[in-house]
Amino acid sequence: TPEAAPARGKAEVPTSSIKITNPDRVIFPEDGATKGDLATYIAQVSPIMLPWVANRPISLVRCPQGRAKQCFFQKHDAGSFGDHVDHVDIREKDGSTQPYLYVRDLDGLMACVQMGTIEFHGWGSRAEDVERPDRLVFDLDPDEGLDWKDVQRAAEDLKRHLADMGLASFPMLSGGKGVHVVVPLTPQAEWPAVKSFADRFARAVAAAEPERFTATMSKAKRVGRIFIDWLRNQRGATAVMPYSARARPGAHVAAPVSWAEFGDIETPKRFSIHDAAELIERANGRGLAGWGIADQPLPDL
Ligand code: ATP
Ligand code: MN
Ligand code: MN
Repeated sequence: TPEAAPARGKAEVPTSSIKITNPDRVIFPEDGATKGDLATYIAQVSPIMLPWVANRPISLVRCPQGRAKQCFFQKHDAGSFGDHVDHVDIREKDGSTQPYLYVRDLDGLMACVQMGTIEFHGWGSRAEDVERPDRLVFDLDPDEGLDWKDVQRAAEDLKRHLADMGLASFPMLSGGKGVHVVVPLTPQAEWPAVKSFADRFARAVAAAEPERFTATMSKAKRVGRIFIDWLRNQRGATAVMPYSARARPGAHVAAPVSWAEFGDIETPKRFSIHDAAELIERANGRGLAGWGIADQPLPDL
């Protein structure tokens, strides 16, 4: 008898005390994936996801009826998520203080999924020290007509420019159209200095090659170019977190990759919620050892 096809690796599912209701509800109508499938995925990747997501203010994209129905961004909450989701009081521009969400552990992640969360976005700083960012993100947003190849080349150029300033960086597939170039920071400088650095860096790269890049959000200036979205690096802004699912067709996920393999990856939608076992194996393998980790203060620019 023929041997069975090699099973797609299976990952362990850590046990959470959170009950997921309506696990059979289809939340990705295009491929039939359910709330239960997402919950299983998040539980599986929790050991590799929590180091990035835990203990920092988060915003959630919640889609209680699935990704194709109404979704909303949520950053504050006074308690409806239950005891497993925590709050950190953060001062707003208008002087008021608001309870921002954060999670500490698997139960926190699962409580968010139970509340209809599909995407996890995070601040660039941690709950214990919100004013001092521990990472920069340059979010590369290509104009419609551009190829993934163009985005890859752009990310590699950014990596080189950052390295010229002594900064190590790491690529993350967004699970959407682009890539985020992540730069870990030693939390020292506060938001105004970090934002100013990101702004000046993005503008310098765009000024050197204006036919390829723009550092302004305007859609008109983006035609045929890649927008270096440096605005993720201001107080209160968020970026999608590693291993978060995306509320888009295909149930793709944001995924850390190494620079060594980056050029060979054929699409930013390379991984989905069905790839937990592969993502875990990769995260624990040699290629991603040290991903996102570097002790480096903001340089002068
Ligand atoms: P893609 O690769 O398709 O661009 P992306 O995650 O980078 O995926 P963007 O639209 O470029 O998507 O947004 C970058 C980040 O900005 C998001 O990850 C999110 O954290 C934040 N963001 C986007 N839209 C909103 C919004 N409506 N409210 C708050 N933050 C947002
Ligand atoms: Mn983007
Ligand atoms: Mn963007």
